[in-house]
Amino acid sequence: PASPSSILEVFLDHARRTPERLALIFDAKRYTYGELARHVTSFAQALLRRHLKPGDRVALYLENSPAFVIAYLGVQYAHGIVVLVNTQYRQVELDHILTDSETRVCVTGVAGAAELTPLLGGLPALEWLITVEPLTSSLPPSLTLLSFDTLLAEPVEERPMSVPGDINIAVLGYTSGTTGRSKGAMLRQSHLLSNIRAVTQAWRWTEEDRLLLALPLFHTHGLMVGLHGTLYTGASAELRRRFVASETLETLRDDPAITLFFGVPTMYGRLLEESRRTGIRPRSLRLMVSGSAPLSAQLFHEIEAEFGQRILERYGMTETIMNTTNPYEGERRPGTVGMPFPGQEARVVDVRTRKPVPDGEPGEIEVRGPHVFSGYWRREQATEESFEKEGWWFRTGDLGLRDPDGYFHITGRARELIISGGFNIYPREVEEVLATHPGVGEVAVLGLPDSDFGEQVVAVVVPAAGQLAPDAQALVDWCKDRLASFKKPRRVEFVDALPRNALGKVQKHVLRERLLPRA
Ligand code: ATP
Ligand code: MG
Repeated sequence: PASPSSILEVFLDHARRTPERLALIFDAKRYTYGELARHVTSFAQALLRRHLKPGDRVALYLENSPAFVIAYLGVQYAHGIVVLVNTQYRQVELDHILTDSETRVCVTGVAGAAELTPLLGGLPALEWLITVEPLTSSLPPSLTLLSFDTLLAEPVEERPMSVPGDINIAVLGYTSGTTGRSKGAMLRQSHLLSNIRAVTQAWRWTEEDRLLLALPLFHTHGLMVGLHGTLYTGASAELRRRFVASETLETLRDDPAITLFFGVPTMYGRLLEESRRTGIRPRSLRLMVSGSAPLSAQLFHEIEAEFGQRILERYGMTETIMNTTNPYEGERRPGTVGMPFPGQEARVVDVRTRKPVPDGEPGEIEVRGPHVFSGYWRREQATEESFEKEGWWFRTGDLGLRDPDGYFHITGRARELIISGGFNIYPREVEEVLATHPGVGEVAVLGLPDSDFGEQVVAVVVPAAGQLAPDAQALVDWCKDRLASFKKPRRVEFVDALPRNALGKVQKHVLRERLLPRA
């Protein structure tokens, strides 16, 4: 289509023009664009036949699978709003999202249903449960149970169907809840579309590419970059139920059709470990991308040394999908997230005065452009507070700076800035220094209350694989030699692993609770 209004429309167009083209591989099963589009149409019609109304919320509580892809596109074709749900969520989190979104329909597989079924009686808006696999427990009588496969098998009617318009809300993307309760970011079709246009152009994504997609589809990174980019360009993706380092490494060594791999830093860390252990090296891909959490300069260099490849790091978030990217051609600068995509803007403002600061000076990152979401679902105040009023800049809540060459650096979250003795300390800076110590595997730095200084710098360290914990004082000295003294940790704690969410983000609030003396 000349000016499509949705990724769905572009996908359907590929299916019409090149129905035989491969779209998806999953567990050795292959789906062409034509087949996938037929399933998507069946599913959309099944929803419409049962009177799904435009704007009804349909939650996907599903593992990575073709069913996820079909349901995701089918709901949009039926003009519903997709609610994305992290499959690792337990009852409290599920209850929050399904209640907050007033979800009418929930599509789920059996693994998820165990956490879900106890809640069902308490969700007044929920009317249908569509299950990919049979349920084991019984349901409240108010609820209609439908089988995903049965819906797909219903005959497709030859009738005109309209695609959603560009201002329709496509998705409620719930934020990861790293800094508090997760909020539903309202993303319109136009947001999805303008983002993926920018991403596919910047990374030269074409229909010849094949992505190894082992990121969860319930999150921006896997879905709105990985899947969207594939469907938009008419390329293909090999979808994995989950990331397993050994399998991924073997595929990257053996399958020359794979040209792209996207991961989060913990995935790259595991690949590296696995590669060192087994001697298996991936072939050089056209592109390896990292995002969702900071990639330490240390890991960047180790991957380059081991795999002969410079990872392209980019920075995004649920509310805006993608903010910045390192250049595809040109220097990929370690420890930075690159520059805004064409057509998008980013700047750094002083946290107190909210005025832009000169290059090199730290502050909060604000972004503006066609990629920025429409606000948080039913949270006017949170929406208000997250926009600057004059120019309608979105306050990302991330701290950082722009270096004189225009590369953005992320130094931490505004809510995690440590203020000790009146000095601002950016956790990321201390983390980067500690990560270079040979005895340190992983590290998180956070501020804990301190009666003298307001806050004190605390480092939580996972010793390097196969090594004993280094001496705490040695780590403090390591920092003292490399940073201003006020930034050195006052306390070092050793742990076996850092608490991380499904995307590998360190959950500092969990660490904070563990480390605080009980009242
Ligand atoms: P919540 O908003 O609920 O606290 P969250 O911000 O973790 O959770 P997401 O939208 O999934 O939820 O994550 C976006 C955040 O991830 C960004 O604001 C940023 O802090 C972090 N992030 C993403 N990419 C990078 C990157 N390349 N480097 C550093 N941080 C990153
Ligand atoms: Mg956030």
